[in-house]
Amino acid sequence: MLRRALGPLTVTAVQDAEGPFFEPRERAFPDATPAQWAAADAFDPAARTADGRWWLRFRSFAIRYADGPVTLVDAGIGPAGAPAKSWAPVPGRLPDALAEAGIAPGDVAAIVLTHLHTDHIGWAMPATTPFPQARVVVPKADLAAFAAVREADLFGPLRAAGRLEVTDGEREIASGVRVLPTPGHTPGHQCVVVSGPEGRLVVTGDLLVHAIQLLHPELGYAHDMDAGRARVSRASVLAAGGELAVSHLGTPFLRTGR
Ligand SMILES: [Zn+2]
Repeated sequence: MLRRALGPLTVTAVQDAEGPFFEPRERAFPDATPAQWAAADAFDPAARTADGRWWLRFRSFAIRYADGPVTLVDAGIGPAGAPAKSWAPVPGRLPDALAEAGIAPGDVAAIVLTHLHTDHIGWAMPATTPFPQARVVVPKADLAAFAAVREADLFGPLRAAGRLEVTDGEREIASGVRVLPTPGHTPGHQCVVVSGPEGRLVVTGDLLVHAIQLLHPELGYAHDMDAGRARVSRASVLAAGGELAVSHLGTPFLRTGR
């Protein structure tokens, strides 16, 4: 079990799936040098296959205050037929991973989506979700940016059920848990900051997607919608220090240099 405690708050890593990226990693990070790749591979060897491909984990984080309700950050690639099916290894196993962590579907009171890419929304899709009672927290700028593709199957049904919660700036979601706008990867991308007496932990979403961006935060990712803003957001979170909980790297929890 991969879990961190900050006082009464626990943060549990739950893995939905793992699999290869859909294109050569050199295309995803076009400015990375061979030396930078070598350093990243030494730092996170589990993210590279023997034949040099990028191997990703698809991870969510369950945040719980004592035995209270759970806030789930991101909803994975999802079940068979989910929107990520065109490129990711659906079905994922997030409900089983939560059960192994002692979390029942009814314990999940809120799902925070860091952004609206398909590998982060799978188990939140209203037609198939195992969490039909949970409110779903979506950043306002992504609501606009993804309306054309997600209004009919995500936003509309959530709104009709009274389960859509829109954020626009920093906001407390649960005790000790707040969202922090970190735009760039998508216009509304948000991290989740967990604060306790023993420090702070940031669930990073896709603020960084590979160890190469932890070692070289200036490196642009080809799938950032605005690479310049993403760079500023990344530098700001890393400068603040503390522990990180990451979506796609080989290990779920990392420390920044500070
Ligand atoms: Zn992602």
